[in-house]
This record gives sequence, structure tokens and C-alpha cells, in this order.
Amino acid sequence: MNATKRLDLIPPYLFAELERKIAEKRAEGVDVISLGIGDPDMPTFPAVVAAGQAALADPSTHQYPSNRGRPEFRNALSAFYKRRFGVDIDPETEVIPAIGAKECIFNLSLAFLDPSDVALASDPGYPVYTAGPVLAGAEAWKMPLVPSRGFTPDLAAIPGEILERAKLMFINYPNNPTGAIVPDGFFAEVVEFAKNNQILVVHDNAYSETTYDGYVAPSFLATPGAKEVGVEVFSLSKGYNMTGWRCAAILGNADAIASYWKLKSNIDSCLLLEAQIKYRQRSI
Ligand SMILES: *Cc1c(COP(=O)(O)O)cnc(C)c1O
Repeated sequence: MNATKRLDLIPPYLFAELERKIAEKRAEGVDVISLGIGDPDMPTFPAVVAAGQAALADPSTHQYPSNRGRPEFRNALSAFYKRRFGVDIDPETEVIPAIGAKECIFNLSLAFLDPSDVALASDPGYPVYTAGPVLAGAEAWKMPLVPSRGFTPDLAAIPGEILERAKLMFINYPNNPTGAIVPDGFFAEVVEFAKNNQILVVHDNAYSETTYDGYVAPSFLATPGAKEVGVEVFSLSKGYNMTGWRCAAILGNADAIASYWKLKSNIDSCLLLEAQIKYRQRSI
């Protein structure tokens, strides 16, 4: 049985490969400290678990959920963005649920990249920034995160030939794996750059609620003009100890979200309703 050539183009999923290597070493008796996939090692907050249990027992959650998300979910995300980040989000057009940041980032590549298009991917970065574009039949161009620039890419160093074909850009702050926080002015530079080059910015916000020493992370969408050029993927996985629940959302540019929704509604049937319902009972 032959799988597609498309699958030959991507390396084995990095974390799967790491898990294999770790198992191999452990079998040899080596005490391995894994710096591979990150997963909160604490349980989900009890109030969320209780709301989930109650929702699972409610028969109204036992049917297909709306792919666009329940109004309660969209309203709660909109209120959270206002309260937490000072960002106005129209619950009708500027937010819908995603199964996780992972699915969302992948599907954005399918929605926005044609063959010969390029996605600009932070490097080092979350593997889907490069595997998504390749599986979509396009290309990923790695933007090195430069230590002397606070682990931001040097946008001026991107070759003109790449820029002409670039349609998407993946950035992520607080950053995985460097731990860097966004330097002052960088998001504004990205907005300007995206406007000039007609690129859709995808800010992967997996870590805004996982910060230390009193630092409060901003949303990319709080940058003036950001909603004109970008979307933000917000995930509950890390900040709320909910990696196993699968619960995220995409917020920002309404046209981009409409395209993502069009694609997504042909691929999956949305979040487990119970995870969405939790928002009714305990707002984030
Ligand atoms: C963990 C992680 C994700 C995946 O989040 P899910 O919502 O669980 O899919 C995405 N991006 C980065 C940078 C991550 O570390």
C-alpha cells in the first residue's frame, strides 16, 4: 500500500520521533529528562471539571455541536479578550472555536496556501508551522529567531523572491521553545510588514496565561491595525491544564475567520459541546 507523495515530504512528527528515542534510551536504563512535548503536569482546575461533568450529564450536549460555536462560547471569549487584553472582539464574526491550536494552525495552511505559496515560519518553532504548509502543497520558509533581537525574526532579511509568494506568517509569544516574551514594538513592526506585503499573520497564543515574575503577556490583537492583517489562536491547553480536553479559539480578522470556518465545516464537527458549555458556568 502506497501512501501519498505528500506524506513523504514531511519528516516523522518531531515529538513522535523524540518519544521513540526516549523509550529506546529508557529501555537501555538511561535516566532521561525529556525536553520534548510539553504538557502541564497538574490536573484541570476543579471548577472546570465540575462544569464538564454536569454538562456531560445534560442530554442537550449529546448532539452535533454547531461548527461556529455556541453563542455562550463566543460571547465568553469576547468578554475575556476585552477584560484580559483590552481587545474588542465581535462575537458574531470575529471568534469561532477550534479543536486545538494545532488543528487551527494546520487548517489555516489549507485555507490560505495554494501550491507555490509560502508560509513564513518562526524557527525554532512549533512543528505545524512547517508541516502544515508542506501538507497543503505549499512551502514553509523558516525565519530564524535571532537572540540579539530578543528572539524575533529579522523581517528585513527575508528575500524578495520569498516575500512575493508569502501569504501566511506564524509567530508565537510568549515563545515556545525559547521562552522569549515579545520585545516592545515587534508586534507593531509585524502589522506594518504584513500590510505592506499582504500577508495574513497568525499569532499562536498558546502561552499568554503561563507567565512568571509578574509579567503579563499582551495579545497580538491589541496592536493597532492587527485585526486588519491577522488572527490569533488562543488555546486553553497550557494555561488551564486542559491539554486533554481540546479547547481553543481563533479570533481576529473576520474574513480570515470566515474562510477558516468554510474549510473547517467540511473537515470536523467542532468541539465536544461540554467543553464549550463550561464557559456558561465558569467564565475564563
Ligand atoms: C502546545 C502548543 C500548541 C498546541 O496547543 P493545542 O491547543 O493543545 O493544540 C500550539 N502552539 C504551541 C507553541 C504550543 O506549545
